[in-house]
Amino acid sequence: MQLTDDVHLVGSGRNGVWLTDEFDCHVYLLDGGGELALVDAGAGMGGGRILANIVEAGFDPKRISHILLTHCHADHCGGAPLLKQKTGASAAISEREADFLRRADEESIGLTIARRQGYYPTSYRIEAFEIEMPLKDAQAIPVGGLRVAAIHVPGHSLGSICYLVEGRGGTYLFSGDVVFHKGEIGLLNCPGSSLEDYRKNIGKLAGLNVDALFPGHFTFCLSNGQWHINKAVESFKGLAPPKNAIT
Ligand SMILES: [Zn+2]
Repeated sequence: MQLTDDVHLVGSGRNGVWLTDEFDCHVYLLDGGGELALVDAGAGMGGGRILANIVEAGFDPKRISHILLTHCHADHCGGAPLLKQKTGASAAISEREADFLRRADEESIGLTIARRQGYYPTSYRIEAFEIEMPLKDAQAIPVGGLRVAAIHVPGHSLGSICYLVEGRGGTYLFSGDVVFHKGEIGLLNCPGSSLEDYRKNIGKLAGLNVDALFPGHFTFCLSNGQWHINKAVESFKGLAPPKNAIT
């Protein structure tokens, strides 16, 4: 599903538009011209449906150079091993979360508690995989003719990253589970999620003049994305905790 000149939705679960497996987050394909990148990889339970959507959109999966992971949770990362194997792409995630995935540390990525609570089937496991690009805050990642900047915004998870892109259709923010439609946030009761971290870091998203906001779940917005982001930034200035999208 084409969203802008250079962004396609190729995966999405029941908390999105249910394009692929029910457990998948939104998975976006970024078309940088010569090179492609994926933002997130889904949970990995949908077989080759994400790849099939990439091909159906007219792209050769072998041109995908990077899988840009927003954070370590299974619904975003579980699909990375298969996608890496089929595309030859390298995986990028915060340097703070890279080791969790290299050793498939289910406790640190919150999978143990999520599975216990019924978010995933009891048989679901994630496979360890290599992270070739452990990212530092503000690191730039070229994807063909596009420049992607990794902004560390811990809060939803220990190393959550929002990817800022100057695209052909404006400025995009791929916000993972940090900020959603109408400024809702993604605070969890699991290792790595912290209201204090949110409070310290959310201000990094102010003043970015984002047009399109592409979060990891729920509604995405093609214009005025900064309006939604600003609502989240403002909500941290009050006494009560901001509205949480994850219940
Ligand atoms: Zn998450």
